[in-house]
Amino acid sequence: MTPPPHNSTERIIDTHTKGKKNLQAHRALWKRAIDDVISNKEKPVHELLTCLSFYPGEDEAEKCSFINDKKKKAPQGFGGFLRGSRWNDDPSFIPEDSAMLFCKAGIRTHYVRSPGCWIVMMARGKLAADDLQNDLEQESRYPLLVQSHFGSFQFLHAMAPDGQTAEQTLARILGWAELTYKLGASLDKFDSQTRLNETGIPSLVELANSLTRPGHEHKYQLGYMFDASRAEQRMRDVAFGSLLHMIQDSFAPCHTQRKAEDPRKIVAFYSYLQQSGNHHSKTDLTQQWDASRLTNKVNPIYIGHQLVLFKHNKTPWDNAEVPVEDRKTPDVKTYLSEYFQLEDPKALTKPGADFCMPKHSDL
Ligand SMILES: [Zn+2]
Repeated sequence: MTPPPHNSTERIIDTHTKGKKNLQAHRALWKRAIDDVISNKEKPVHELLTCLSFYPGEDEAEKCSFINDKKKKAPQGFGGFLRGSRWNDDPSFIPEDSAMLFCKAGIRTHYVRSPGCWIVMMARGKLAADDLQNDLEQESRYPLLVQSHFGSFQFLHAMAPDGQTAEQTLARILGWAELTYKLGASLDKFDSQTRLNETGIPSLVELANSLTRPGHEHKYQLGYMFDASRAEQRMRDVAFGSLLHMIQDSFAPCHTQRKAEDPRKIVAFYSYLQQSGNHHSKTDLTQQWDASRLTNKVNPIYIGHQLVLFKHNKTPWDNAEVPVEDRKTPDVKTYLSEYFQLEDPKALTKPGADFCMPKHSDL
């Protein structure tokens, strides 16, 4: 994605630092926050891993060449999954007023459509990140974009805020997997008006209740969240893409610490807070996953492909929920849980391995 023109970065910095004491220090702070949030948005890693999960066969891989070749077209009907595979990094939101630079009230915003507004919002979130930890009231004032990077929704990237136990994070990850798988496979009774706290999934109900401000209930409506207040199929496809993104992130070394001898086992979830925004590109393992996608079962492309097959076959999420004659083995929850075994359920979130942290020269 192309970064915004230099002069808009300057305008953002000017606007937010005008009249401040220690002007240079404030300018440097904003510049660093902006550079960091922009550097996160480089390679189409998730798009490729998602596409290969749909088309893993040797003879099918050509279908995914559109991702790195602008002249080629995506397979028909793939748009929602593609958007979904980016969604966790870039959930859209609708600014309520136009007070923020580059943001327009009532206009749905995400990076591609409105990079200026996106950058302002993310940079503000990054600078407020320390305050958002353990302050749900403050966090509730920010859109999902900020919550998913610096707050309670970090589990969308298989990460977690400081102070959370691995079992708490996993409950949210599996809650999200349940929601997005059921939506993707149309195994639910939800529609675009359903709110997260009406899904009956305990970890998501609790989360949404703790972050919903009176008068802002729409924020956790499925249609609002997944960009589709009208086209329901789009909402379902975006949700399923978001499931694949979360699984992919759980194999990224700066997101989740997996055991080297047995990567099905998780040692700890990391927090995004102190990490450098460009860790995504630095720890890019796409080629490695791609090369072993047909042979290695502990591989996000392989797991993604199994989820695509489950979706296609309408395999139940949890056998306990369906009549005996409709049960399939394994159910999706059992299958997925195999790749999220916790070494120590009480392990607390860690900041991240050394190579995920900003270099001294970045500071
Ligand atoms: Zn992510």
